[in-house]
Amino acid sequence: MSGNFPKDKDLFVFKDEDKMILITDTGSPGSSDTQDDDDRVWRILIIDDEEEVHQATLYALRDTKILTRNLEFYHAYNSAQALDILRTVPDIAVILLDVVMETSNAGLDLVPVIREQLKMNDLRIILRTGEPNQAPEIDVIRDYDINDYKLKSDLTKKKLYASLTSAVRSYKQLRTIEDSKKGLNMILQASSELLTQEGLNNFAQGVIIHIAALLGVAPEGVICVRRRDQHVEEDLMIIAAAGDFCSLIDRPLSEMSESITSRLLRESLDNRCNVFHKTGVALYLGSHTRGDMSCYVASGTPISDVDKGLLEIFCNNIALCADNISFLESLKDYAFTDTLVGLPNRNALEEVINRYIDQKSDVPYSLALIDIDNFAEINAALGQEYGDQLLKTAADRLKARFYEPNTVARVGGDTFAVFGPTSHVQKKALLQPFVNPFQIGGELQLLSITAGIVPLTEIQGRGSEAIKDASIVLKQAKNQSRGQVVMFHHKMVDDARSRLQMLRNLRSAFELNQLFLVFQPKLKLSDLSVTGFEALIRWKDSFGRFVSPGEFIPLAEQSGLIIRMGEWILRNAIAELALLRAKGYMNTSMAVNLSVAQLEHPDVLEMLMRVIGENNIDPSFIELEITESIAMGDIEANLRRLEKIREIGFKLSMDDFGTGFSSFTYLQKMPINCLKIDRSFVNRSNTKSGREIVEMIVQLGKTLGLNVIAEGVEEEVQGVLLKEMGCHEVQGFFYAKPMEREQLHQWLAARKARG
Ligand code: C2E
Ligand code: MG
Ligand code: MG
Repeated sequence: MSGNFPKDKDLFVFKDEDKMILITDTGSPGSSDTQDDDDRVWRILIIDDEEEVHQATLYALRDTKILTRNLEFYHAYNSAQALDILRTVPDIAVILLDVVMETSNAGLDLVPVIREQLKMNDLRIILRTGEPNQAPEIDVIRDYDINDYKLKSDLTKKKLYASLTSAVRSYKQLRTIEDSKKGLNMILQASSELLTQEGLNNFAQGVIIHIAALLGVAPEGVICVRRRDQHVEEDLMIIAAAGDFCSLIDRPLSEMSESITSRLLRESLDNRCNVFHKTGVALYLGSHTRGDMSCYVASGTPISDVDKGLLEIFCNNIALCADNISFLESLKDYAFTDTLVGLPNRNALEEVINRYIDQKSDVPYSLALIDIDNFAEINAALGQEYGDQLLKTAADRLKARFYEPNTVARVGGDTFAVFGPTSHVQKKALLQPFVNPFQIGGELQLLSITAGIVPLTEIQGRGSEAIKDASIVLKQAKNQSRGQVVMFHHKMVDDARSRLQMLRNLRSAFELNQLFLVFQPKLKLSDLSVTGFEALIRWKDSFGRFVSPGEFIPLAEQSGLIIRMGEWILRNAIAELALLRAKGYMNTSMAVNLSVAQLEHPDVLEMLMRVIGENNIDPSFIELEITESIAMGDIEANLRRLEKIREIGFKLSMDDFGTGFSSFTYLQKMPINCLKIDRSFVNRSNTKSGREIVEMIVQLGKTLGLNVIAEGVEEEVQGVLLKEMGCHEVQGFFYAKPMEREQLHQWLAARKARG
């Protein structure tokens, strides 16, 4: 049965159908009861005012064993003495009580005191009377739970023995029930306490403590599990210990010197059952999800049958608890693992960083966040499945490069984190996993990454702050140094804070109606007539300084404020257009910038309808300027939206053309009317190569049948050149700056006056 025992002749093992093994080293199979009771007795109290009765009873019961135990007698001659003994001697099993003593009812009067005051409900009472007429009323017998009553003349050995045996048996049963009740309560309490333990080790520690409490011994024991990992030689691991065994935690069982403890544990795990020994017990705590687990607790003395029964119940309960713990842990795993790539997620990373902070280690650590460049576009172009594969491969490569003590995590869509010693988390190491192209579905894809590194010494706060700060570094790197690894700089975090402050100010300025619009004219190059205006937003902050929309529009976009703000802009721009038309400027249009966030908002069409409805304006006089960044999101959905906007009647214009990444095919699909050449190209049109680019863009626009407009024209020569190239319209400081309403009206009036 067991490979662990054959050498030991003095160990006898048997196993019954209840999966209980008793090991004795006495050489004889023993029932726990015989051993148990060798040195135990039943305590009998004789209460009687007649000395002869005491003597006669002792004589009748001399050398008598009841239920394998000897009897031990106590003697009282009146009620007071009796109470004294009852208060000081524990575990009295039976009282032989004389009814008539100092008074005719003294014995009977003692019974309610025993039952009600002393609350001794287990001990059995046998009443003895001298005369049959002294027998108590039947309801007294019932109410005070009196076992039996006898005439003193019945004091024969045989009758006494029979009467006492039945009393002792019933006492024993009552005690068993009482002990079990207590034990069951303890088990219930233990289970609920154990369930709240976090982690298997704490749970196991709790199990030892509770078993020891159940047995009424000091916690001295170990818990051993069988590891499921097949790659290890020694699979029995000690996961918790108490008392002398403490040094063995997290060590293999083989490191414990050969002893009854290790033998019991092996036996219990090999046979999946409880193993009892006179000095301790190994309880099998099987668990479906955990694998095998056994707990050894030193009991010092043999374990009684009641306790064995209780331990069985305890084990079953514990196995359930352990399953629950593992269920909770797997829930936790779920909460801490990224299921796509199988890496720790953001929460888990936070915990790892917190643990590092709490350890106050001397080894400096750094946190790097790595973002795959243009992942959104790759995903959109090649499909999500392809994107997922790419992320998985990237995760594998990072894991292979950064093993222990580093932690690799996935903290966002295409953002990974590496947390480890600063000497590991270095630029070159971070770039290395991405040097070779990724092969997915036969396609080779070279990925570039942008990363930000934050040394933990720079961070005030916990894991979440570290990740936040690293995100700031990453974001800045994304904006300014794509494809590079950027080190943390205090200025970055300060900048982020000031942007947050700016956003707050912007919100309140918007609520207080402190934003306003300016209008920049657009002119036809052929005759320099005004074709329309572009509405541009302006913000003068509380210090009277103009904040550039280049600064605050991205903030409004990121925060979602642009949705309400954009509607306000459009409404005011249309109101201005209506005013101009009322003034007779009938053939002019109004261009309004539409952010991607606005276009992608589900209510964009309703919003547009609503705003034109308010002023009853023909949407063909309104040109919405979009940028190439709409290709970064869901291109197909965005294209469908643009089609609808065109169907309503709006004109569409591609702003800042040339700075984004739209391809020719993509441009062909766009339902636009107009192409706006970005001012950076116009700016460089003085050089030969710059001129060639502008010319190309003009040609491209014309090929697609679009109206071509150049923005940011600051010099006359630029205008001349553009005209030669065939560009249709211009917009720029050279012709007119953006103007507030009154100024614009004056400007228009002055031009009209000049004819
Ligand atoms: P944009 O739509 O390309 O606007 C043209 C920008 O060029 C405006 O800058 C305008 O003042 C500037 N500009 C015009 N002519 C010249 C010139 O000859 N030289 C130079 N150097 N600049 C010239 P502004 O108003 O600072 O706006 C910057 C950007 O902010 C805009 O670029 C647009 O993307 C965004 N923006 C401005 N107003 C709004 C708005 O109401 N809504 C949205 N969504 N974005 C806006
Ligand atoms: Mg614009
Ligand atoms: Mg522009």
